[in-house]
Amino acid sequence: MAPPLVGISIQLLSIAALILQNNIQHDSVETSVHQIQAVYDFIVVGSGSSGAIVANRLAENPHIRVLLVEAGGPSGLINDIPAQTATGALFYSEQDWNYTLTPQKYGVSYQNRVIPENRGHVIGGTSSFNSMIYNRGNRRTFDVWAKEYGAIGWSYEEVLPYFMKYEKNLDPLVASNGFHGTTGPIEITSWSHPPPIIQLHQQAANELHIPSTDINGAQQFGTAVCQAFIDGKGRRSSASNAYIDPNPYPHNLHILARALVTKILFEDKRAVGIQFLRHGTEHKIFAKKEIIVSAGTINTPQLLMLSGIGPEKHLHDLGIPVLSDLPVGDNYQNHWGVSIDFAIKEKYYHLLSTGGQMNVPQLYQFLARKTGPLAQHYRTVVYYNTHNNKDKDWPNTNWETGLYLYPANLSDVRAFPHEDRHAWDIFRAPLLGRYYFFVHPILQRPRSVGSIRLASKSPLYYPLIDGNVLADPKDYADLHESIKAALYFYERSSIAEYLEPIEPIPGCQFCKDRQFVNECDEYIQCLIVQTAYSCYHPAGTARMGAHERHDTVVDPRLRVKGVDGLRVCDASVMPLLMNGNTNAASLMIGEKCADLVKHDNQLA
Ligand SMILES: Cc1cc2nc3c(=O)[nH]c(=O)nc-3n(C[C@H](O)[C@H](O)[C@H](O)COP(=O)(O)OP(=O)(O)OC[C@H]3O[C@@H](n4cnc5c(N)ncnc54)[C@H](O)[C@@H]3O)c2cc1C
Repeated sequence: MAPPLVGISIQLLSIAALILQNNIQHDSVETSVHQIQAVYDFIVVGSGSSGAIVANRLAENPHIRVLLVEAGGPSGLINDIPAQTATGALFYSEQDWNYTLTPQKYGVSYQNRVIPENRGHVIGGTSSFNSMIYNRGNRRTFDVWAKEYGAIGWSYEEVLPYFMKYEKNLDPLVASNGFHGTTGPIEITSWSHPPPIIQLHQQAANELHIPSTDINGAQQFGTAVCQAFIDGKGRRSSASNAYIDPNPYPHNLHILARALVTKILFEDKRAVGIQFLRHGTEHKIFAKKEIIVSAGTINTPQLLMLSGIGPEKHLHDLGIPVLSDLPVGDNYQNHWGVSIDFAIKEKYYHLLSTGGQMNVPQLYQFLARKTGPLAQHYRTVVYYNTHNNKDKDWPNTNWETGLYLYPANLSDVRAFPHEDRHAWDIFRAPLLGRYYFFVHPILQRPRSVGSIRLASKSPLYYPLIDGNVLADPKDYADLHESIKAALYFYERSSIAEYLEPIEPIPGCQFCKDRQFVNECDEYIQCLIVQTAYSCYHPAGTARMGAHERHDTVVDPRLRVKGVDGLRVCDASVMPLLMNGNTNAASLMIGEKCADLVKHDNQLA
């Protein structure tokens, strides 16, 4: 047997070689600039959950030339590692657009209540950046898209085949229930051996008559250990890893990274090209057939407005000539929630599995064997109906819970930039290096709707994002009730035995005359006021629906109204936000959009 030092040296060398190999592979996704042409058949703007799929599917036809343009750079090992320790490191990095909302009434910050709105600025977009929970949302959402908004072709029955088309579900038990695909490019896995504490967590929910369910199957209401966008090799199943990286069609699919598209170019009312900035230089490239904008819920409306498509008065005020007067940037919807950390009692650590850490043995295990704590990132979800919600099959709140190892050092805790650092440092100190449940009660069916507007006609200024967070009193009431229910669960169900009592967050106090925090409405209110934040699911800012509706931007074939040759294909087209995480549906939109484009251009 090799002495330990030799063993570690071999592991270090192997890790270095494997990281190098991994990054070389990701970097090679970019097409050499010398190969980039002046004219393509299609240009896709944005390589995220939807855009990567559209580009791939169009390029399946070898006679069609496709350019995919992405503002961010290639992804790397850090994106491939599912564990929280890696995904947390993406925040506020160069892979993050790092948006913030305009000051809100409720919000995470102690200065101005500025809520962060992080988004992926990288090949794969937010699918390379997110938490990998596989949750399609309730079937009713899609039926409302079709019936109430006139999004013909987007009912649940009609979109289910597209969910199944991209999916390769590697859990035979789940896959056999009739709601899942088994041959698509996106591999989905279950947590093969959840540690006993997770089983106890699920058991506690069942004891409260919350049934175990496949949230993507016949019945959403209930609880589940979520399946994840993690492939069979323990790697993130992003849209890029599954569809474009490595590039399967290098001859006719060209991928240009680090290129910020600043304008869609028009001849009369037909979209004919794009203008973009790359390394400080402006370029133009043209499209013979169509331009598909997949820049996401924030950037898509920004780009449309910069190009003259948006609310007439707003564009006039900024001196932008109006091509089509549409409600671009209206209908911003998002999920709002809070997070509560419950430390697990140390005497129960034997019920846990090892937490993910970027150390030599775990990196080696991940890179060489595709297993270990770094290959895991799973959450449980419990759906909860508040009293306001009459439709019990379409739950309006939930709480997501992760099992994590808190970083050992305060400097490694990624604080929101505007937090009162000192108070939070004191608050977090007892959690450092400990295992905890990260509990995240979320309002899943918000009524409040916000907006996105340009701050300037310069593409280099970030747009103004007004979330209108919890503005409808019923939204506030639903979130409040859901937090109460979650606190009840963690303080008073059978899982409570395994958890330390929580401490009040800085700036808020528990009620002195109440035994349980869940009975203290004043504390819950303070928690919302001080810490409500975006659960990262913005949608709806280029709403799809019937052409004749005044509140729609694109028709059910995703064509931008009032112009030709331009579609939008990403989460911004969702007429109504689903009561689940938005990646699954954004991938579905990518698959369906590709079919619409192919059909309308008579392509096989
Ligand atoms: C922290 C976080 C965690 C999340 N967790 C989950 C989860 O666990 N499960 C889930 O289902 N969903 C999750 N989501 C949400 C989900 O990932 C997104 O809804 C989904 O990825 C959106 O897809 P999209 O195609 O609309 O946009 P994106 O994937 O964001 O793609 C847009 C792309 O366009 C590029 N782009 C933008 N503007 C330009 C421009 N002008 N020029 C060129 N390129 C441009 C961007 O860089 C980006 O690559 C999470 C999101 C975040 C931020």
